[in-house]
Amino acid sequence: MDELQGVLKGQKIAYFSMEVGLTSEIPTYAGGLGTLAGDAIRSSADLKLPLVAVTLISKRNYFRQTLDADGRQSEQSRPWNPEELMTRLPNSVFVQIQGRSVEVKAWLYKYQSITGWVVPVLFLDTDVEGNLPEDREITYYLYGGNEKYRLKQEVILGFGGVRMLAELGFRIRKFHMNEGHSSFLALELLKENGLDIDKVRELCVFTTHTPVEAGHDKFGYDLVADVLNGTVDIGLLKKFGGSDRLNMTLLALNLSNYVNGVAKRHQEVSSKMFAGYQINAITNGVHSYTWTGEKYRKLFDKYLQGWAIEPELLAKVDLIPDCEIWQAHTEQKADLIEYCNKTANVNLSPDVFTIGFARRMTEYKRPTLLFSDLNRLRSMSKKYKLQIIMSGKAHPRDGGGKRLIEQIYSFAKQLKGDIETVYLEGYDMNIAAKLVGGVDVWLNTPMRPMEASGTSGMKAAHNGVVNFSVLDGWWIEGWIENLTGWAIGPHPKACLEDQQCFIKEAEDLYSKLEYIILPTFYDRHDEWIRLMKNSIGKIAYYFNSHRMMHRYVTEAYL
Ligand SMILES: *Cc1c(COP(=O)(O)O)cnc(C)c1O
Repeated sequence: MDELQGVLKGQKIAYFSMEVGLTSEIPTYAGGLGTLAGDAIRSSADLKLPLVAVTLISKRNYFRQTLDADGRQSEQSRPWNPEELMTRLPNSVFVQIQGRSVEVKAWLYKYQSITGWVVPVLFLDTDVEGNLPEDREITYYLYGGNEKYRLKQEVILGFGGVRMLAELGFRIRKFHMNEGHSSFLALELLKENGLDIDKVRELCVFTTHTPVEAGHDKFGYDLVADVLNGTVDIGLLKKFGGSDRLNMTLLALNLSNYVNGVAKRHQEVSSKMFAGYQINAITNGVHSYTWTGEKYRKLFDKYLQGWAIEPELLAKVDLIPDCEIWQAHTEQKADLIEYCNKTANVNLSPDVFTIGFARRMTEYKRPTLLFSDLNRLRSMSKKYKLQIIMSGKAHPRDGGGKRLIEQIYSFAKQLKGDIETVYLEGYDMNIAAKLVGGVDVWLNTPMRPMEASGTSGMKAAHNGVVNFSVLDGWWIEGWIENLTGWAIGPHPKACLEDQQCFIKEAEDLYSKLEYIILPTFYDRHDEWIRLMKNSIGKIAYYFNSHRMMHRYVTEAYL
């Protein structure tokens, strides 16, 4: 087939992910999991790794967010046209759902690196003439619908994905499950390999991404029996996926030879959650070129040639004169502030110290910690002026997440006149890139130990933005106090009651801002530049997806 010319050679790693964030124009991602998958694909292409990615087309979403004057979120379906960006392949495979044979097609997107290497990405699609309307919808809404809908999606991704790869002529040496949504692939491999469990384990790699219990999909066996309708032996499923409910994480754990969490701390937490399984750690990274703003790209090109395909070179950031580091930051900051003032009708100033916070809005991310004492914020801003930029979408069914946005709106109103606070609507990869490229400090205040890794802080570091974060996820590894940024709250090993911990975190947040961060920013410019350079030379050089993929190759794929 012409479209696949050149991408079928050799044996591949098949990278399965429910969401993939390649560009803002392909809205098939919801948050960090998807952008990580996108970064893994981009780095694989730069490194010329033999990778093929498999995901769903999510044709009607992920939703577009609008916010009213009180911060109430509404969601618009966001139909997009894959035809403009990718090619629909003529091949079909079939997957049984509720006794019906559902036809599955695939769109091919070729991600090409500046090195010329191409990573094919297959977007599975059940919107095929001849399928029942309810089956055509299976690949419409990322994380949409009810449990049954989700189960059907996972059936398409796992079973359909393996079949599609074979149908197209891909030869696969390892199947990498990026989160448990694709665990059915291991069942398909069991069938293909005559129930030889060792052989299947040898083929499978599993990465778990969250210590949040609700993040692990579980389905009742009645539902499973209804959807799979005799195509899979339920006894076999129970053996590997749990006796009372089908736990997709357990299924993947039991059928993979290599399992990892996404940061060292996450490995520890996961090892407790899944006692008896060996869990490794490969700390996440971000794609350096993608998340470095235009001005810094130019600067790195000038002093650190080759950095985009060899981000280790960022360790030599000291070759760049301080004034040019500051100049690049000033320009990116001006772009961000102009964007905010224009789109959100606010009055931010390019000369004022700016805090950024953007991520999925959900309770454990705790975006409101910064506002726990408005008077204290006001008083410190009298001496050293500060302003705040925030953004993020709440999942349509996450009422708590939506309320957080309304609370932030209310805080912003109360602070009006003292501290300019803006909430950008429609968070996506474009807005993320602008934000991490242009604020002064990147704030992260999750409830520990829920942040498996977090990646936006790594994006910020690539732009000389300094991290100020709770010690959770990747930051435990990246943090050197006063050198690469600052910690909020106790050391992860410290045992404190939740309430004590909260108090300590809020106290740290305010006192470090007031006595260390703001004075350094305004009064000790050289020291500030040192922090910015350390973000690049001590964080970005390491916390990138090139290093991450090298680790997957040597530890999991080979
Ligand atoms: C990087 C990114 C995320 C992940 O950010 P976290 O800090 O890990 O929560 C989420 N959404 C978008 C659009 C991103 O670019």
